[in-house]
Amino acid sequence: TRKFFIGGNWKCNGTVDEVKKIVCMLNGGEVPCPNHIETIISPPFIFIPMVKSCLRTDFQIAAQNCWTKKGGAFTGEISAEMLKNLGVPWVILGHSERRTLMHETDQVVAEKVEYALSQGLKVCLCVGESLKERECNETAQVVSRQVQAVAARVGCWANVVIAYEPIWAIGTGKVASPEQAQEVHYNLRKWIDCHIGCQVAQDIRIIYGGSVTAANCKQIGGQPDVDGFLVGGASLKEEFIEILNARN
Ligand code: 13P
Repeated sequence: TRKFFIGGNWKCNGTVDEVKKIVCMLNGGEVPCPNHIETIISPPFIFIPMVKSCLRTDFQIAAQNCWTKKGGAFTGEISAEMLKNLGVPWVILGHSERRTLMHETDQVVAEKVEYALSQGLKVCLCVGESLKERECNETAQVVSRQVQAVAARVGCWANVVIAYEPIWAIGTGKVASPEQAQEVHYNLRKWIDCHIGCQVAQDIRIIYGGSVTAANCKQIGGQPDVDGFLVGGASLKEEFIEILNARN
């Protein structure tokens, strides 16, 4: 059985005071014990040391990105080694905001995943289709292509969680229906079974992201192939505690 996995992606949000408030909220929250749920909190890089020093240790820290290879003359970048060195166990890679706004291709994302894993980081790999692609019935194809690019470079999937985040559902309030999420997760798991391996397909967590709220998380999280959530906007609010208890 796959342990339920919930991430809070803060994106490019927060002031020092706001970060203190959110950490306080998380520290005071009643959430299932780590035997039942795995949780990551992903602040902007610059707040990571501060969050790490005061956040309860049952929440793990994740970075929102890292460089494709070993550090060096790459102004403005943060390397996987640096994250490792600071004791950051997780990194989110391939988020659609980076794929679209920063033009990260499937190949760049795959390179990042390979390098981060090689440095001992765990990876939350984001995939998902645009509205246009969904309307053209290309969802399964897009999502499997994004995973295939990583499969071409990565043999071991034990330290990877896949986040299915349809772009049309991110930050829009238009959440995928539980059936829509289940269909994509089921098909992706089937694709992994055929192209990567049946054990990986059985074990890998596929979580859903895109307008997850306290109001819709129970239904989505109740689907057999949905193993958790990656939460954006709602992870900055009190309701995140309710989302962490979605399976209770
Ligand atoms: P929202 O929950 O704000 O839609 O964002 C989802 C997301 O992109 C998480 O990575």
